[in-house]
Amino acid sequence: MNIDTLINKVMKYNPEEVEKVRRAYEYANEMHKGQVRKSGEPYIIHPLSVAYILAELHADGDTLCAGLLHDTLEDTKATKEELCELFGPTVAMLVDGVTNFAKSDFKNSKDEDAANMRKMINGLTNDVRIVIIKLADRLHNMRTLEFMPREKQKEKALETMELYVPLAYYIGVNGIKSELEDLSFKYLKPREYKKSNDLREEITINSDAYLQDMLLKIREILNNNGIIPDEMKIRIKNIYGLYRRLIRKDRDPHDLIAIKVMVEEIDKCYLTLRHVHKLYQPIYSKFKDYIGTPKSNGYQSLHTTVLSETGEQTQIQIRTREMDAFATYGVPICWDLYKEGGAAEMAQIISKNQGLLPSISEINDMYPKSDRYFIRRIKRELFGDGIEVLTKIGETVRLPKNSTPVDFAYSIHTDVGNHMAGVLVNGEQVSFDYKLKPGDRVEITTDELAGKPDIHFATTSRARRMIRRP
Ligand code: MN
Repeated sequence: MNIDTLINKVMKYNPEEVEKVRRAYEYANEMHKGQVRKSGEPYIIHPLSVAYILAELHADGDTLCAGLLHDTLEDTKATKEELCELFGPTVAMLVDGVTNFAKSDFKNSKDEDAANMRKMINGLTNDVRIVIIKLADRLHNMRTLEFMPREKQKEKALETMELYVPLAYYIGVNGIKSELEDLSFKYLKPREYKKSNDLREEITINSDAYLQDMLLKIREILNNNGIIPDEMKIRIKNIYGLYRRLIRKDRDPHDLIAIKVMVEEIDKCYLTLRHVHKLYQPIYSKFKDYIGTPKSNGYQSLHTTVLSETGEQTQIQIRTREMDAFATYGVPICWDLYKEGGAAEMAQIISKNQGLLPSISEINDMYPKSDRYFIRRIKRELFGDGIEVLTKIGETVRLPKNSTPVDFAYSIHTDVGNHMAGVLVNGEQVSFDYKLKPGDRVEITTDELAGKPDIHFATTSRARRMIRRP
């Protein structure tokens, strides 16, 4: 990894910013001069690698510079004022946003970690780029974790799994999310990791022949019908995903292997689906139209599981080029918004349908003094296993596991919660303490005369807080 590798990458999608990126590199290189990483490499390799990860996400110029400079405030004599003068206020703000608090402010490392995590999570409500730089920073640190002592490895791996992986999910950077999962898994459960990795290799080898055959036949039928796919490729679940699916949860193999078909427009997605179903028998219950009903993080695609000629279950994912870019890069694909100062718009995209940002501010207000309580609550409520349910008009809402209709009502609007009179789930009347299940379609009836629901029926901070409010 050197500056030329980075410059070549940036040149391909953002040539206007190359000079500024080079200047940021030269400054960082000067500042970190003489410092080395645990691996023995010169320190500058780390910020360079972080900037390279950001360039893979097609980050804008300011974000790339901030990636190169991200450790200068913490580890060198650089100041925010100086960064502002040299690289502008946005770069200075981003670097400041990713800089940890001074160690001397804390009595112990638990408090220090919690305060820094809190700063990062709140960064999401200021400027999502702060979190993206933090994710890239953590990804490179996890890639080079072998040089850390055993205890530190476990600690970092756990923190990554519990906090960074959910953040990556929310922002929709799927590539980073699955790599972080696999790297954490490797240090948390080395034996299971190895088993799952071996299994993945076995599946890859055993399935190659029939997958190649399917690819060929799908391409042929599409071409014969005037559809030229932009790209087709085979994807096998990541190591951690495989472990969750096969070893811990259930043995349902339907989405372990997927063939991705990218076409140019939405209508062709549905036409492609029709041709695939002509070739291979679909499994009825496994069909998902995430184009009609996107996932709560904005993901769109058609998913169908079919049986190959030899009877293997294979998932076919069909989507447009744009949908695929979104699935890979997530929210950051809208980097252009920043040119018009669209940080607020970006934040809206993230919070759309999932109430993430209001929930973060709620929890932030609840624990003004304790960073550790804040983190605990965030983990339980936002980053734990969630479920996705649907509104009356079919919009997706993400809620923590075990949520009730009361939690749902308050996530829609305070007034809906305050005046809820009845609940229909999938058309049937249920009680206020009903435990919502994934895919439930929830309809709340309100009545101006109805009072607030009993607080015991609420599990989320938001609902409990609104019910308690006089
Ligand atoms: Mn760093």
